[in-house]
Amino acid sequence: TGGTTARRNIEEARADIARFIGAGSTGQILFTSGATESIALAFASISREATQIVTSAVEHSAVLAASKRWANGRPVVSIPVNSEGLLDMERMQIALGHAPSFVSLMLANNETGVLFDISSAAQLCRQHRAVLHVDAAQGFGKVPVNVCELDCDYLSLSAHKFHGPKGCGALYVRRPAQVQPIFPGHQESHLRAGTENVVGIMGLAAAARVLADWPKHVGLIAEPRDQLEHSIITSIHGAVVNGHTTQRIASISNISLPHTSAADFVVQLSRRGLQISSGAACSSGRQPSHVIIAMHNDPLRAESSLRFSLSRFTTREEIAEAVHIVTQTYHHAALPRFDTPA
Ligand code: PLP
Repeated sequence: TGGTTARRNIEEARADIARFIGAGSTGQILFTSGATESIALAFASISREATQIVTSAVEHSAVLAASKRWANGRPVVSIPVNSEGLLDMERMQIALGHAPSFVSLMLANNETGVLFDISSAAQLCRQHRAVLHVDAAQGFGKVPVNVCELDCDYLSLSAHKFHGPKGCGALYVRRPAQVQPIFPGHQESHLRAGTENVVGIMGLAAAARVLADWPKHVGLIAEPRDQLEHSIITSIHGAVVNGHTTQRIASISNISLPHTSAADFVVQLSRRGLQISSGAACSSGRQPSHVIIAMHNDPLRAESSLRFSLSRFTTREEIAEAVHIVTQTYHHAALPRFDTPA
């Protein structure tokens, strides 16, 4: 019957995702409506023993919102990053020594692509008996993701970040018995009720299968990314790349252009056929990026930061075209400037 086929498709997808991320059992994979819901479910499952929440200053808004919603009176400690976007491990250690913690850290940053050293953070979490959730929405498919190597308790995924359908995600749970469902009911082993998004789940697994040879894809993206950055930096005086030069994924490039309002600039670029964003792709772009502020404490640098997205389908010709549009617009469009260019 259709129901049996649907069930089989879902369970095949679950087994594949479990295998791809190194989960010990298929019961540790729950399908959700996306990383936002996966993150919320991890936060909703915070145990009473955890008396503080620890996150970083550069997390996605989904984590920042969940840490407020599920704090239930617990203090939320925000660990700073340095100017390269890397986590301050000393502050992390001090925070974890303070109280039993629920920790949420992103694998790759959605605005800069910078990778946190999750394995080192996980070691600290283990020493201090903290529970660790990893938001791998951006990292999955760009770097190897293995829940045993990362040594995490929860891990969130989002299908549309690796060419899967929008509105579908997954949550890895080390100990399913500890999950406190937001939607109670019988589906997903009683941990996430509601008729399953069968097509979404199949799409998520299909997209993940394509990533099996991820190193080939990553190598393909780094070259056009470097070409993009090199060309913009050499043709716009004062343009700077935000984020660590090597410890990052290749599909995101974040560049600040001097004296420019990124929010106005992206509108101009869009009219010329180039779609990029200022700040997080999902935010309105009118707020200066909290990520660049956390790295540089410089509102002008944050307001002038552009986020370029590349994929394994981006061609050298498209990069050359993008560079042309950016430099032409920068040098010739009538744009409001912060102050007179030097
Ligand atoms: N976390 C990060 C780092 C993201 O980039 C996103 C993207 O939107 C999310 C969480 C939320 O994912 P979703 O759109 O699947 O809810």
